[in-house]
Amino acid sequence: MALIVHKYGGTSMGSTERIRLVAKRVAKWARAGHQMVVVPSAMSGETNRLLGLAKELAPAKPGDAYQRELDMLASTGEQVSVALLAIALQGEGMESVSYAGWQVPILTNSAHTKARIESIDDQKVRVDLAAGKVVIVTGFQGVDEAGNITTLGRGGSDTSAVAVAAAMKASECLIYTDVDGIYTTDPRVVPEARRLQTVGFEEMLEMASMGSKVLQIRSVEFAGKYKVPLRVLSSFTPWDIDIEIEAKSGTLITFEEDENMEQAIVSGIAFNRDEAKVSVLGVPDTPGIAYQILGAVADANIEVDVIIQNVSKDGKTDFSFTVHRNDYARTVDLLKEKVLPGLGATEITGDAKICKVSIVGIGMRSHVGVASKMFRCLSEEGINIQMISTSEIKTSVVIDEKYMELAVRALHKAFELDQPAA
Ligand code: ADP
Ligand code: ASP
Ligand code: MG
Repeated sequence: MALIVHKYGGTSMGSTERIRLVAKRVAKWARAGHQMVVVPSAMSGETNRLLGLAKELAPAKPGDAYQRELDMLASTGEQVSVALLAIALQGEGMESVSYAGWQVPILTNSAHTKARIESIDDQKVRVDLAAGKVVIVTGFQGVDEAGNITTLGRGGSDTSAVAVAAAMKASECLIYTDVDGIYTTDPRVVPEARRLQTVGFEEMLEMASMGSKVLQIRSVEFAGKYKVPLRVLSSFTPWDIDIEIEAKSGTLITFEEDENMEQAIVSGIAFNRDEAKVSVLGVPDTPGIAYQILGAVADANIEVDVIIQNVSKDGKTDFSFTVHRNDYARTVDLLKEKVLPGLGATEITGDAKICKVSIVGIGMRSHVGVASKMFRCLSEEGINIQMISTSEIKTSVVIDEKYMELAVRALHKAFELDQPAA
């Protein structure tokens, strides 16, 4: 008998019929003798619907008062899901109880709409499990010290599930979703994408941080920190498939290299459409410029990703960086108001129609020429690279958004990701 955490995403919880199938699957695991904690997301589309209602009433505003209410609102999606799943389980003859984040409690910091989990009190859950109940805990949400409801950022139910698994020292955390594992890239963009049996933790972390939304990055960070065995698998297999087969399906995130691991130089391609580029033109090329620009942005709590400074000409240079699209307008306003006047720059321009495409692979550490192969592939497709950023195990380029799918497909082919690696 083991303690297992299941997480079900929005599509898996998308209708009462689908919730019934989730309940049947969970009941199967419980009847096989496991202690079950289940973390569901809101029903698909629900979080967007709720946030859309807020937007109808007042445009999104930075600042705690507005963000606090967004959390009150968005967290209700998951509350509906836990109650419905508990009811469905009771309908299957299983004893079951649901909890909202604040009831557990899952304590977070107070950064509304992007809170971080600080601790989880598992006492109540353990009592219920010992009494033979299936425990359903809301994904995506928690409570801060002052009692305010918080949410963990989009896709945050993954993180809730892994954090609960870590706090309870679960034997495994199974992330059930609408694809049957982690692929070499999003199979919806590249139909030839190949499912990986295992993926190394570092690569998964990089894929998630470069925009692959199959797992929220913080869930991967938690899994690494607490060594939570983590598997991504499909909720669309028949609920009554053999539990042993189900337990080995999908993709396992591994923490150590093992003989099953593929030895690919590039393991996957991630892309991210959520960024926007801001350029400050005609900046005097003097010490402290980067600090003046990016310091002001950081002080406004805006995260900067890729940065590029051009070679100076006649003592002037151009400085560009990317931010999240949600922060784009705010960044441009801030620079125009606070930075441009003192800086002596000529103009601030921006482009929200960009995307970042990244190739990721541990093998890049020990192979030269991988980045140049990427650049050649893109040039053969006539795709202009606007910015480049590299780390030990990834190379990212910023390109025009309209070439995203073309770039991902071409790179997938160029790196032969449709073929199993040696
Ligand atoms: P859930 O609602 O279950 O959390 P998400 O939509 O957040 O599901 O994540 C699953 C989706 O992630 C898939 O439908 C797929 O389109 C997308 N995805 C992006 N990159 C990958 C990848 N490398 N492997 C598998 N799926 C990916
Ligand atoms: N419901 C939240 C979202 O749509 C959290 C999640 O699904 O993981 O982002
Ligand atoms: Mg998700």
